[in-house]
Amino acid sequence: MQKNVSCTSRVEPYGIAIHGGAGCIRRENLNDQRAAEYRRVLKAALQMGYAILEKGGSSLDAVENAVVFLEESPLFNAGHGAVFTHEKTIELDASIMDGSGLAGAVAGVRYVRNPIKAARKVFEKSPHVMLIGAGADAFARHIGLEQVDPSFFHTEYRWKQLQKVIHSDDVVLDHSSTVSKPNSDKFGTVGAVALDLNGNLAAATSTGGMTNKRWGRIGDSPIIGAGTYAKNATCAVSCTGHGEFFLREAIAHSVSARMEYGKMTLHAAAQTTIYEQLKNAGGEGGIIAIDRFGNIELPYTTDGMFRGFQKSDGSIFVGIWED
Ligand code: ASP
Repeated sequence: MQKNVSCTSRVEPYGIAIHGGAGCIRRENLNDQRAAEYRRVLKAALQMGYAILEKGGSSLDAVENAVVFLEESPLFNAGHGAVFTHEKTIELDASIMDGSGLAGAVAGVRYVRNPIKAARKVFEKSPHVMLIGAGADAFARHIGLEQVDPSFFHTEYRWKQLQKVIHSDDVVLDHSSTVSKPNSDKFGTVGAVALDLNGNLAAATSTGGMTNKRWGRIGDSPIIGAGTYAKNATCAVSCTGHGEFFLREAIAHSVSARMEYGKMTLHAAAQTTIYEQLKNAGGEGGIIAIDRFGNIELPYTTDGMFRGFQKSDGSIFVGIWED
């Protein structure tokens, strides 16, 4: 005989947020058709990550898959569609972190189709956290990740961007308003943060860095604590912006530290880190962050940030400007 039990079912929150870069994205430089295309791809990436969470999948799988989707899109400065270096190569950086403490990163890779997959494999298949350059590509090949000819990453659009600056010493930061002619060409690092049904947080970031970069320059995106950070007790963060400032200020970790040591809410921690710490240091950019309650923050200091979120409370948002 069935017992007459009364049970109150508690619904655990879950959700995902993504970004496709922050910068001087002005409305006048992005026509309606192109803005709609950005929104369409961002929404598709969100829905892909959210579907994983909805089925009870892990936040790590959700952020990895959302970032893979964005790496495959030529619209963003990550994977196919990434920016060119001064040497006319494409060198990709990515990192991923699980809120339980696992982290992996690759920097300066040229052959692995999806750098974010390689970043995850670093902690799954090696005792390390970060691999760089030819060694990282050899590792990705060794463990069987898909390799591509470097021309796979090329787009005409990014090639033209390089031609504008290759004969100068300009190193065009995707997110700098110091570029001589601010336009919409220059943005697109991608990232995702998520909370799953089991209360696990994860963050992932992938980029081509900046146009005309040289000397093996690496920004914040593949650096755990600078461009990416996740801790189940606090939050998951993915950054986009002028990497040197995010590196010096350890921006992603700062948000978590404010929550852990300063007992701030995610909202206060994210706002203070971006509008005070980053701004006072002279940096620009933005972050996406989620905490263990499913709260999401998307602050940025630039004209715009390609971004979006979807949560288990039914809310969904995709935006570029203050809209
Ligand atoms: N943060 C990246 C870097 O400095 C650039 C970006 O976010 O677009 O490499």
